[in-house]
Amino acid sequence: MAADKTFDDYRALAAASIRPFADAPLLHFIDGRPAASASGETFENNSPVDATLLGSVASGDAADIDAAANAAHEAFADWSGRSGKERKKILHRVADLIESRADDIAAAECVDTGQTIRFMSAAAIRGAENFRFFADHAPDANNGRSMPDEHHVNFSSRRALGPVGVITPWNTPFMLSTWKIAPALAAGCTVVHKPAEWSPYTAAMLSEIALEAGLPPGVLNTVHGFGESAGKALTEHPLIKAIAFVGESSTGSMIQAQGAPTLKRVHFELGGKNPVIVFDDADLDRALDAVIFMIYSLNGERCTSSSRLLIQSSVHDEFVAGLTERVKALKVGHPLDPSTEIGPLIHPRHCAKVRSYRAKAEAAGASVIVGGGASSDPDSYYVDPMLFTGARNDMDIAQEEIFGPVLTVIPFSDETEAVRLANDIEYGLAGYLWTGDTGRAQRVARDLEAGMIWVNSQNVRHLPTPFGGSKASGIGRDGGPEYSFEFYMETKNISIAYDSHAIPKLGHIS
Ligand code: NAD
Repeated sequence: MAADKTFDDYRALAAASIRPFADAPLLHFIDGRPAASASGETFENNSPVDATLLGSVASGDAADIDAAANAAHEAFADWSGRSGKERKKILHRVADLIESRADDIAAAECVDTGQTIRFMSAAAIRGAENFRFFADHAPDANNGRSMPDEHHVNFSSRRALGPVGVITPWNTPFMLSTWKIAPALAAGCTVVHKPAEWSPYTAAMLSEIALEAGLPPGVLNTVHGFGESAGKALTEHPLIKAIAFVGESSTGSMIQAQGAPTLKRVHFELGGKNPVIVFDDADLDRALDAVIFMIYSLNGERCTSSSRLLIQSSVHDEFVAGLTERVKALKVGHPLDPSTEIGPLIHPRHCAKVRSYRAKAEAAGASVIVGGGASSDPDSYYVDPMLFTGARNDMDIAQEEIFGPVLTVIPFSDETEAVRLANDIEYGLAGYLWTGDTGRAQRVARDLEAGMIWVNSQNVRHLPTPFGGSKASGIGRDGGPEYSFEFYMETKNISIAYDSHAIPKLGHIS
């Protein structure tokens, strides 16, 4: 938690960060310049803190996407043709500037999304780390492998794919966008970014930073607007070679269809309903801390949240008693107050969805152990954390991604049942398991159907490792040069003969 600044300090920072956008509409950033929508359309952006209007935002459509895609296309030859060392230098400057504005970015993110400052201050710094990590790999991005055979030298190399589209959600928008944009730029691609319409501000701040860092015009373009207009047009544009998308599984499915006519390469990071399995031989104190952290941090608006707790029946009552006490004590409040643990949720529509699961839990016969109170006020963006027990895995509260501070508890008797319940779901993003038995840890980690497994740990991201989901949770992996560059680059193999191999002779006259 950022302890050096007070609630008032953060309020002042947020006001200063957001003010320029209140005085005039927030514009797109195309070819190195702010740009209004060709149509002149704007939409309003309200803060989840108190529903006040933060400002208006340019609403992009196919014409603005076309301008941005052309700018990215024009800039591609120069950017991809620069040496990796040069790209590294500029991207480190982006990271420096993110670091120097990290508090502004974090404060703006909080008033725009409702995420709390205790988590957003670290998220802004992680954005800078993403740029540094991939910047350091830029000089080696084109490297390939040597695979000689008896008669040939074979070697591969990689080159940047071209202009790519990046489409991001609203839950931790700045950090997530840097996860995609940094490797794309390091690889030599140019980018058109379409941030989520509910959280446009920090994408605009990233554009300003990119310009100040010396990123050439057209290398990073940002078009604001709605999914069905700006987002759809980006996925359909013929100059855009690939789409890196983070968002809901159903949207991923639409994007795949929209991109099919232009044969778009896609990388999807989608939804999750991730199990955390706690066995009775685990360190239950550490497990309790991690279970609470992984669902009630980031307002529960987190793709890798452990929203399904599978708890061994022998320790169920003890564990749930501890859980109940702690969940009741969670501090819901203003996102810029450093002591707040859960802030307001992003949008009235999302609040209504999250609240609806209380009635669904009751109707299905589960027990609502914590939750209700302020969460029943339909006009408030603040939703009290909820805890459901006595659930079965086939209930909606166990199967659907709620994307809020809501935990569903399901008991199990043994290892086989735990794995069966964990896998009985359409999603496969992350799995967490807690046990003191090494063999069991290995077996369960092997058998869980998910792209990422953490054993005796909450989600701790290490950038070289592959990040992504299986089943309905995604296609492809981020991370490290092997995974991220593989997506943003095209691999070419060159085979050169030693002039020693036999060439079949056809039509030969003897
Ligand atoms: P969403 O799918 O509604 O929107 C995401 C983005 O897609 C937005 O920018 C939106 O405007 C755009 N979009 C919507 N329809 C589109 C279309 N037809 N064509 C092109 N773009 C379109 O998701 P959301 O509600 O903003 O975010 C929450 C979801 O994101 C959750 O499901 C969460 O699990 C997921 N998520 C996944 C990860 C991960 O790494 N797997 C990380 C964060 C969030």
